[in-house]
Amino acid sequence: MITNTTNRFWFVLLSAFAFIIRNRSMRKWFWVPLVFIAVGFLLPQNMIIPVENATIKNWDEKSFWAYPWGTSITHKGIDIFAAKGTAVISSTNGIVIYTYEGGKGGKSVMMLGPKWRFHYYAHLNEIKTFPLKPIKRGSTIGTVGDTGNAIGKPPHLHYAITSPFPYPKLYDSVAVQGWKKMFHLNPDIWLRDQ
Ligand SMILES: [Zn+2]
Repeated sequence: MITNTTNRFWFVLLSAFAFIIRNRSMRKWFWVPLVFIAVGFLLPQNMIIPVENATIKNWDEKSFWAYPWGTSITHKGIDIFAAKGTAVISSTNGIVIYTYEGGKGGKSVMMLGPKWRFHYYAHLNEIKTFPLKPIKRGSTIGTVGDTGNAIGKPPHLHYAITSPFPYPKLYDSVAVQGWKKMFHLNPDIWLRDQ
């Protein structure tokens, strides 16, 4: 599939449905997860640039889907450059799904925001949040760094948004891995009008 987070999301959702359908007495509640999903889509997003005091000049508008991009093949996010230690702030309201240290992302945070979109913050110098913590838009979740495969490069926040629900309109028949654009959204779309 697309990402581990997408896989886990579908596993949890389908398990919930399977549980409800299998239990005769529960079957009348099948609409509960559907309403839950619908409400998530109705929440307003109102995204802000997730690095303190950063402007659109802190990233290149061609950052998203840059190719070739090492083992990732295409760059599925944007790199927002800032001094090491600058606060990384949450771009939306949401909840922390996990924090992780290791791999390509180095110190990273995954958050679930409105509209069932997962927001990924990577290469952090420091993580300043914890799993399941509800987060208000604009609050600090870490600091800009150069961890993971950003080591030796100028410090930056790798910021990416994925959706477990595909957006068929975003299918790109020309770009490398263009079909994946249905699941990996370009943060630039929302951040450019700040
Ligand atoms: Zn990046």
